[in-house]
Amino acid sequence: ASASDEKDLVIIGGGVAGYVAAIKAGQEGLKVTCIEKRGTLGGTCLNVGCIPSKSLLNNSHLYHQILHDTKNRGIEVGDVKLNLTNFMKAKDSAVNGLTKGVEFLFKKNGVEYIKGAGSFVNENDIKVALNDGGETTIRGRNILIATGSEATPFPGLEVDEKRVITSTGAIALEKIPETMLVIGGGIIGLEMASVWSRLGSKVTVVEFLGQIGGPGMDTEIAKATQKLLKKQGMEFKLNTKVISGDKTGDKVKLEVDAAKGGKAESLETDVVLVAIGRRPYTQGLGLENIGMELDERGRVIIDSEYRTKIPHIRCVGDVTFGPMLAHKAEEEAVAVVEYIKKGFGHVNYGAIPSVMYTYPEVAWVGQSEQDLQKQKMPYRVGTFPFSANSRAKTNLDTDGMVKMLADPETDRLLGVHIIGPNAGEMIAEGTLALEYGASTEDIARTCHAHPTLAEAFKEAAMATSSKAIHF
Ligand code: FAD
Ligand code: NAD
Repeated sequence: ASASDEKDLVIIGGGVAGYVAAIKAGQEGLKVTCIEKRGTLGGTCLNVGCIPSKSLLNNSHLYHQILHDTKNRGIEVGDVKLNLTNFMKAKDSAVNGLTKGVEFLFKKNGVEYIKGAGSFVNENDIKVALNDGGETTIRGRNILIATGSEATPFPGLEVDEKRVITSTGAIALEKIPETMLVIGGGIIGLEMASVWSRLGSKVTVVEFLGQIGGPGMDTEIAKATQKLLKKQGMEFKLNTKVISGDKTGDKVKLEVDAAKGGKAESLETDVVLVAIGRRPYTQGLGLENIGMELDERGRVIIDSEYRTKIPHIRCVGDVTFGPMLAHKAEEEAVAVVEYIKKGFGHVNYGAIPSVMYTYPEVAWVGQSEQDLQKQKMPYRVGTFPFSANSRAKTNLDTDGMVKMLADPETDRLLGVHIIGPNAGEMIAEGTLALEYGASTEDIARTCHAHPTLAEAFKEAAMATSSKAIHF
C-alpha cells in the first residue's frame, strides 16, 4: 500500500470491539477500514455468543413456562410441541437481522469493510487474504487489534460440535440429547445447561470449584442460584474436576476426580459441553513479524490507553485484559477511538455489570462480599427478597433477592448483587448509582414507581442505610 492510501485507522476484527470502534471512528471523521474474516460482522457476540444464546434462552423459557407454569395462573393449554428446526430459525433470524444491521451502520458512517483475514507485514501494513480469493495490503497510521477470543479446548477431548461441543455447537444442536454433561459451571455452562434442560435433556454440571457462576459471583447469590437451578432439574457436581475424556464408544466417557470433597468416578453421557473458559485469539495475525509479545495467558499487553509497545498499534476487547464481556469491549472501543482522536478517553472498570441470563437472572456490579473480605474492607449488607415485593407477588414470580454492600462509614455503595426476575435490566440502576458514587441513602430516597420489581432495589437500599418498609 502506498502512503497516499494510508488510513487513519485500520481495525483487525469486526466483533463488538472492532465494529464499535469502526463506527465511532467514522463518526469522528477518521478514514477507517475494518477487516473481518468471518463473512459477517458482529464477531462472537452477534454470530455465536450473546445474541443466539439469548434467543434460545428466551424461547426455551417460554416453552418451559407453558409446560409447567400455566395451570396455577388459570390458563389451560392444549398439546404443546417443540419444533426444534423453527426454534433454531427464530434464533438465526435475530442473528441475521443484527449482523446485517451492523453492515448498514458501516455504510452510514463511511466505514470501509473488507472481508478477509488480516496479518501484520510490518508495523503499518496489513496484508489481507480476501475471502473471495486474492490478496490486498492496507496501510494504517493507527492499527487496532480486536481479534477476540475462542473457546478453551479440553485436552484430549477433540471438539466435533456434535457430541463434544463448545457453545458454538450448543446453540445449533439438531436434536435434543437425552443426557448432557457440562464441564465448567461458569456463565456459558449454566446458560446452555438451562436451554437444553428446559427442552428436555438431563443435564449434569461438573464444576472444579466449590461454587457455580464463574469468577465474580457473590457466594450467597451463587448458592441461591444453584438451589433454584437444581429445582428446575439440573444436577451439580461441585469440587469435581474432569480429568480426561474418551469419545470412541456410543457414549462419551469422562473420568472425574475429587478436588476438595468431590468424588472420583466415571461418567457417561450423550453430549459433552466444554465450557471451561475462553482464551485470546491471535492465530495467523503475524504478531511475530512486529515482535509483539503476549502475556502468559496469551493476551496482547497494553497500557492504560490501550497502546501496545508499538504506540500506534492499540488493542481492545477479549484479546486483551479484563472481563470477556461484549459491553466491556464496546466501552473500550469508544474510548480507544477517543484516545486516538482527542488524546483522552474513559472506562470505569469498577462499574462493569455482569449478567447471567438463566431463570431467574443473576446480575451484579461492583464488589462482592468475598472481594471486600479479601481486601479486609469493612462493609454493611442490606437485602430485600422478591417474596416481599408486590409486583413479584402479582407475577407469581417471587424467587430471589437484591443485596447491597456499602461502606459502613460513608454509606457509599460498593456492590449490588441480584438474583431474580429482570435482574439483568435492574442492574443498570446499580451501575448508574455506582458510576455516580451514590450512597445507599441516595437510592433509598429516590422515588420508584409502584408496583414494580425495581422497588425491591430501593428497599434493599433502605435496608442497607436504615430499614426496609415491607420486610
Ligand atoms: P469477538 O467478538 O470474538 O470478535 C473478534 C472478531 O475478529 C471475530 O469475528 C473474528 O472472526 C475476527 N478476527 C480474528 N482474527 C482476525 C484476523 N486475523 N483477520 C480478520 N478478522 C479476524 N458477553 C456479554 O457481554 N453478554 C452476553 O450475554 C454474552 N454471551 C455470550 C455467550 C456465548 C456463548 C459466548 C461464547 C460469549 C458470550 N459473551 C457475552 C462474550 C462476548 O461474546 C465477547 O465478550 C465479545 O464478543 C468480545 O468482542 P470482541 O470484539 O473482543 O471479540
Ligand atoms: P468461566 O471462566 O466463566 O467459567 C469456567 C468454569 O469452568 C469455571 O468456574 C472453572 O472453575 C471451571 N472449570 C475449569 N476447568 C474445569 C475442569 N477441568 N473441570 C471442571 N470445571 C472446570 O468461562 P465460560 O463460562 O466458559 O465463559 C467464557 C467467557 O464468556 C466468560 O468470560 C464469560 O464472562 C463470557 N460469557 C458471558 C456471558 C454473559 O455475560 N451472559 C455469557 C456467556 C459467556
